[in-house]
Amino acid sequence: MPVYEFECPNGEVTEKLVKMDTKEIECPICRQKAKKIISACTFELKGGGWFADGYASKKH
Ligand SMILES: [Zn+2]
Repeated sequence: MPVYEFECPNGEVTEKLVKMDTKEIECPICRQKAKKIISACTFELKGGGWFADGYASKKH
């Protein structure tokens, strides 16, 4: 299972191993709901480079 980061309304970030479809957890510090932070770099590396090649050559 991958490690995801969750941020609660107080700005506290918690790393936790959860299933992919888990969208929020309970913040261990303030017990409020912490939402999953999607790691931008992971997604850009997978899809961004691929897209960039095709689009860049057409636009320029
Ligand atoms: Zn919190």
